[in-house]
Amino acid sequence: MAQRTFSIIKPDAFRKGFTGAIFAEIDKAGFQIVGIKKLSISKAQAQGFYYVHKERPFFDDLTTFMSSGPIVLLVLEKENAIADLRKLMGATNPANAEEGTIRKKFAGSIQENAIHGSDAEETAAFEIGYWFAGYELI
Ligand code: ATP
Ligand code: MG
Repeated sequence: MAQRTFSIIKPDAFRKGFTGAIFAEIDKAGFQIVGIKKLSISKAQAQGFYYVHKERPFFDDLTTFMSSGPIVLLVLEKENAIADLRKLMGATNPANAEEGTIRKKFAGSIQENAIHGSDAEETAAFEIGYWFAGYELI
């Protein structure tokens, strides 16, 4: 059954002009785009999105980074979307990312790692609902 996941083209990738190339990877992997928007988010919006990480030492830097420039928010659909997107993204730290993954190709560091993808069904549901209204998903 088709499944939905949530993704972000992060500010580093957008700034470096990698958005189109990342879209091409997502398209080639068979994902349908059911929601899409470009935003510049506030630090408070980033903190709400990443609240699960609020006790982590990198939380302040991460939310400053995520609010540092335009990002592209995506709701993606395919069979096994959550796991397949994580695989396509590669490891959090690009130094550990497999050859051919988006982070291997486009990420600069463990923080500025080009793309976000939901890690489970419950987080996907929270993340989609955080950024999109139902009528924006087509
Ligand atoms: P994401 O949630 O963005 O898809 P992820 O699930 O691979 O990435 P998480 O552990 O959820 O990784 O961390 C969320 C984000 O926080 C990472 O993508 C990265 O931008 C940042 N981050 C994670 N660990 C570190 C770290 N040790 N130092 C700096 N930033 C980090
Ligand atoms: Mg995560």
